[in-house]
Amino acid sequence: MGWFTLAVLGAVAYTVWYAVSIAREYLRRERPNNVFNNVLLVTAHPDDECMFFGPTLRTLQRSGSHIHVLCLSTGNYDGLGAHRTKELQASCQVLGVTCTVEDTLQDGEKWDPEAVSDAIDEFVKETKWDAILTFDKFGVSGHLNHGNVHNGVRYFAARSARPYILLELESAPLLLKYSGMMAIVYEYVQSLMGVMLSSQKESVLNNQKKSGLSNQSVSSNRMVAVLEPNEAWTAYRAMAMHRSQLVWFRYLYLLFSRYMHINTVVVRHPSQLM
Ligand SMILES: [Zn+2]
Repeated sequence: MGWFTLAVLGAVAYTVWYAVSIAREYLRRERPNNVFNNVLLVTAHPDDECMFFGPTLRTLQRSGSHIHVLCLSTGNYDGLGAHRTKELQASCQVLGVTCTVEDTLQDGEKWDPEAVSDAIDEFVKETKWDAILTFDKFGVSGHLNHGNVHNGVRYFAARSARPYILLELESAPLLLKYSGMMAIVYEYVQSLMGVMLSSQKESVLNNQKKSGLSNQSVSSNRMVAVLEPNEAWTAYRAMAMHRSQLVWFRYLYLLFSRYMHINTVVVRHPSQLM
């Protein structure tokens, strides 16, 4: 490889790093609108917590939240349930969260919303949770149980006497899912465009207001959670605790997945669950 090629590659790498740093700094300043004391993360399998939710966990921790992971199966599809339960406990220790593993639901089988809701209901009696964090209906990877957990959490929250705020992790389209750190730049550009559009919308609304047509205000219910480089290292260390799952394609996942760097989460208030 010639000096010129090396110089071009170095310039490209520096430009990407610089763009990611600026984007991260901008997005980091966007604080969640709500501060939650106790957040319950409901997952389907040991390793979901660090493969998908790392940036959200860290962002909530920075704002002072205590987080508990309720994993609804031992991930016993290959008969490794007991081993994977221990791996989850080690991962949670690295992430600085506590965890409980349920063993009534079986990995890979369809879970009814009622069964998921019962498992959550049994657990939440002891602690008062302000918010429940979980998958959206696409479940990030499209795994059957991820979608089942989403449906079950929705079912539980809609019927609960206590109001819960739901935090649903957005599933990204395939190309964005494997955009790695560049997903931070993408969200930055999206955010800037959103600011421009909302200021345009606000001026339209102000004009409408002046003319007596509307008194609406612009509001957002989306939370962007970004990891610092040293925090991304913690997410990698947590993933390393799931040794039984570290097959070759998982290393590719760790290299290219946006979820090791950034999460976008939709915040749903109780009135939106009816
Ligand atoms: Zn999973």
